[in-house]
Amino acid sequence: MTRVFNFSAGPAALPEPVLRRAAEEMLDWHGSGMSVMEMSHRGKEFIGIAAQAESLLRELLAIPANYKVLFMQGGAIGENAIVPMNLLRGKASIDFVDTGEWSKKSIKEAKKYARANVVASAADSGYDRVPPRETWKLDPDAAYVHICSNETIGGVEYHFTPDVGAVPLVADMSSDILSRPLDVSKYGLIYGGAQKNIGPAGLTIVIVRDDLIGHALPITPSAFDFKTVAENESMYNTPPTYAIYIAGLVFQWLKDQGGLAAMAEHNRRKAGVLYDYLGGTGFYRSPVQPDCRSLMNVPFKLTDETLDAAFLKGAEARGMVQLKGHRSVGGMRASIYNAMPIEGVKALVAYMKEFEAQHG
Ligand code: PMP
Repeated sequence: MTRVFNFSAGPAALPEPVLRRAAEEMLDWHGSGMSVMEMSHRGKEFIGIAAQAESLLRELLAIPANYKVLFMQGGAIGENAIVPMNLLRGKASIDFVDTGEWSKKSIKEAKKYARANVVASAADSGYDRVPPRETWKLDPDAAYVHICSNETIGGVEYHFTPDVGAVPLVADMSSDILSRPLDVSKYGLIYGGAQKNIGPAGLTIVIVRDDLIGHALPITPSAFDFKTVAENESMYNTPPTYAIYIAGLVFQWLKDQGGLAAMAEHNRRKAGVLYDYLGGTGFYRSPVQPDCRSLMNVPFKLTDETLDAAFLKGAEARGMVQLKGHRSVGGMRASIYNAMPIEGVKALVAYMKEFEAQHG
């Protein structure tokens, strides 16, 4: 068996020990005689698995007691509708900071439910940065302020938590949740799809402050009403059971690695190897301003784009896959989530140097 270095933006590489453990437990979970996939979500085994996953997530992120953790479905794109349906609380508008493709998707969807005010945008500079907090024109009467903490396509990440006063801060953290410690109390709501740093696709994590629950618009589907989901411990409908189980194994793995502070250090070192090299070569370049560069998704361009196909082919031949940038921006993108070992990044940089020496 040969495993590749998988730079996919998501679904993405998972920690190998998690996959091995899942394989070992596939046919018979802890003597139950069943696979987790075959368990009733109402049985004691699965209820224990879900409770353990939630408890580990709470511990990793130090989630305060006045926040609920919801295991939902529909992905982050689903939440782009579910969040406004639940959080308007009689207000007419939502403030958005526009940092790229995923912000734009959130804005477009929210417009079905409320007025969307773009209070700051990096569109004019080609989405190469987070607009400085001082430039945001916030409305104190907005239902909430929405940000995307890490633009997976553009590779732009917040390296600060914006202070938005009394208005709840809502963040799409699909691609950087669990990559570093987080002060959850600064947010009203955090959401993200699982398929990058958490586990398999199909599970969506929502962390929401208690006072923001219970205000859903009457049209909200019951399965997406935070109150219904919370009151039923995320089991109003059948949850994505296997994805929750794998997420729990990933949370345990994160804890075994030393938790999120250790993970943040690991991620800084890893991304540093790549950005240091990009900073010293004219053959490749990073399209993002240095203080906003993502530690999770590293887009880079070859100065001579006619070499893109040859670059990708050579990478694949060396066991490095999924380096092609998103179709909307082109170029390359290396997604280096928690599960990517530093050896993968070093192998990529070694190949980039070799390719530069050949073609530069
Ligand atoms: N937001 C961000 C930041 C993402 O990276 C993605 C997925 N790449 C999405 C939203 C959409 O997530 P999903 O496909 O799970 O709905």
